[in-house]
Order: sequence, then C-alpha cells, then structure tokens
Amino acid sequence: MFILWTVSFTALGLCIGSFLNVCIWRIPRGESIVLPPSHCPKCDKLISWYENIPLLSWLALRGRCSNCKNAISPRYFCVELLTGLMFLAVWFRVYSLRLPANLTLTLLITYFILVVFIVLTIFIDYDHHIIPNKITYPVVVFGLILAIYAPAFWKLADGSRWMAFCFSCASILVAGGSLAIFAIVGKKIFKKDALGWGDVKYIAAVAAVLGPWAAFFTLLIGSILGAVVGLTLVALKKSGLKSGIPFGPSLAIATFIWLLCGSELMQAYFKFTAELAKKIGA
Ligand SMILES: [Zn+2]
Repeated sequence: MFILWTVSFTALGLCIGSFLNVCIWRIPRGESIVLPPSHCPKCDKLISWYENIPLLSWLALRGRCSNCKNAISPRYFCVELLTGLMFLAVWFRVYSLRLPANLTLTLLITYFILVVFIVLTIFIDYDHHIIPNKITYPVVVFGLILAIYAPAFWKLADGSRWMAFCFSCASILVAGGSLAIFAIVGKKIFKKDALGWGDVKYIAAVAAVLGPWAAFFTLLIGSILGAVVGLTLVALKKSGLKSGIPFGPSLAIATFIWLLCGSELMQAYFKFTAELAKKIGA
C-alpha cells in the first residue's frame, strides 16, 4: 500500500508540475491559466493529450514541437521532474511523522499546496523579479482557513479554532509587519529596495500557514542562501552586486528545507545555544 501511495503522489506531482509550467509562463503575463489550452508558442498547434504526458512526451518528442520542430525548453522537463520529486519528498516526510490518518491527509494537502507555491515563486521570481499577489494572497487565505479547519497544527493548549485563527493572524502581522518596517526603513537608508513587497508578502504567507518560526527560519536560511549565491556570482564575475539577484528563489528553497526538517534543525539550534550559554556561564 505504501508503494502504491508513493507512486501515486509522485505521478500527481509530475502532472501538477506540467500545469505549473503553464502557470509560470502565464500568471506574470496576466493571462488566464485555463484558456486557451496549451499550444506551441511558434506555430500555435494545440498540444494533444498524448503530447502532454509529463517527462515522457518531452523525451519522446526530443524537446521539439511535433508540427514545426521548434525547440521546447528543457526547463519544462525540469519543472515537471522537480515538482514530482518534491511531492515525493514531502510525502516521505509527512508519512514519517506518524500522525493520525485525518491529520496526515490534511498535512499532506497543505504541504502539496506549499510545494506549488514554492515552485511558482522560484521560477516566476527568477524570470521576472516579482512574486505576484495572485500566488501570495491565496496562500494567506488558505493559512487562515487551515487554522480554523485543523487547529491541532497550531499546538495550542486549548486547541480551539478561534484561538488558532487568531494565532495565524498574529503570525501574519508579526512576520509581515516587521519585514514591512524593514523594507520601508531599508529603502530610506539605501535609497533603493532592500526588500521587495513580494518578498514581504511571501514571508507573511509562510507565517499564515506554518507559523512565525517557519517564517523566521525562511528569512534566516533564505538570506544565507541568497548571500552565498550572490557572492559566488560576484566571484565568478557573472553579475555585479548592483544588478540585483531575486530573493524569492532563496526564500522558497528555505521554506522547502523547513518542510522537510525545519523543526529538527530549530530544536538542534536551541539545544546548541543553550549548551553554549551554559559553557560560557561556567
Ligand atoms: Zn510548433
């Protein structure tokens, strides 16, 4: 049964990855993600269902349109594969937590939605240097609904829906608010955007669903990743510091790390600092 679920969730991830390719192209251009159906950007030939099978179609067509032989970017293949592997990884993670069946399902759906959010953020921000409201706002709303539907995830003493909802709201305000202040003050000091509003809304969305610690972790690890990438690019002379590297992909990767092992890393960190404090004290 476990193998059947594993194969099904990976296949689901591949299919959703195929749909995300459409979203990554269309959402920042303000186009509908439903209509018109997928077509070749060069010759407008509609893509039939058997040319739309994740991974296999791209391989079978050797990355070319069946009609005009226009090259189809290998990125379509990569986004499908990446989404499939991410679905697989979060399924293993949620399964390993050994929660009651109803919570397992709720958490799994939550993580799948966050994987979609993460993949969209990585590629749209990389391409256009924006994280559209169309993807951050729905995740904020989802976080609030999730708090009412499954207050157990907020691990509150009384476990009431109303309190969970209030905590989700407070989490959004604290994480989003402090970053908003940072963005405004940063702009005053550096005379340019230190932090984009898309990044602020992204963190607020993470806080709405996963709570303030996940938001803090995303910001901390995302900043470290961003700095490493930035310094590497400068060292390779591929990009000047001024050209600006989008922050979204680093934040999104950090959120994914949180999904897989964030709470363990956080606990290890607290244990480490507590022991360090003890040693310094002694
Ligand atoms: Zn074509």
